[in-house]
Amino acid sequence: MSELDADLRTDANWGTPASYIPELARVDPAQFAITVVTADGKIHSAGDSDTRFSVQSVTKVFTLAIALGRSGDQLWQRVSREPSGLAFNSIVQLEHEGGRPRNPFINAGAIVTTDEILSGRAPRDALAEIVQFIRTAAGSDDIHINEAVAASETAHGHRNFALAHFLASFDNLKNAPEMTLGTYFHHCALEMTTTQLAMAGRFLMDAATGPRLLSTARVRRLNALMLTCGHYDGSGDFAYRVGIPGKSGVGGGILAIVPGTAAIAVWSPGLNRYGNSLKGTEALATLARKMNWSIF
Ligand code: GLU
Repeated sequence: MSELDADLRTDANWGTPASYIPELARVDPAQFAITVVTADGKIHSAGDSDTRFSVQSVTKVFTLAIALGRSGDQLWQRVSREPSGLAFNSIVQLEHEGGRPRNPFINAGAIVTTDEILSGRAPRDALAEIVQFIRTAAGSDDIHINEAVAASETAHGHRNFALAHFLASFDNLKNAPEMTLGTYFHHCALEMTTTQLAMAGRFLMDAATGPRLLSTARVRRLNALMLTCGHYDGSGDFAYRVGIPGKSGVGGGILAIVPGTAAIAVWSPGLNRYGNSLKGTEALATLARKMNWSIF
């Protein structure tokens, strides 16, 4: 792991941090961290693994788990399970497909899953459930929302406002767009270290370590969606290069799962052209190859 960390740092191309959320654009791209938690509960880390970063879309895995727990398969009437082949914040497919987002990991789909968690209660209560789920998964209460990041995205998130209103125009939003988006921006603004994120991913390994939060059947389905849709329009490339399920966020984090074997969190804030962590993807490709962890 420390060899992997050192190798990655020799190449000066770190990619570019997300620029459309001003708070994220300020982050120094030359940072890297990795943590692996194996099925026997051992934790291996290298790099800046105590640095907190903005988890952003990685939370979409946890919100999907919660929404499925609350609503069961009914959720799939509101959102499909197909790769989108388009950018994370794209709006065009929504019109063609009658306001039903392609999958729960693009922004439109995650706004729907957030809306499902929110229905029937106040944003504060929905957020409390999301934060508590992630803390329980990670086995750590020291996980918090960065209010400055949430405010920054609220002030500049015109695309997401457009998506939410577009969903509402198709009657695919149960709450006021501002309420659903407020909840969405806040869970995206959770901060974690790679150690906390890898720990939070243990339940997706479906091994004997960590809390059991979902049935085996549901864990398999979440992993299938991570593999096919977890990296937006770069999902095929990630499956090809890395060969394991993963979910990325524009903060530069990726949670990747080797079923039955390991939960891995990587973070490096510079992104590639698909909006996925450049060094994080490289690190996962190298690790999966060296450990023979591809699921194929
Ligand atoms: N909060 C971000 C957004 O909605 C998340 C995007 C991502 O991490 O890919 O645009």
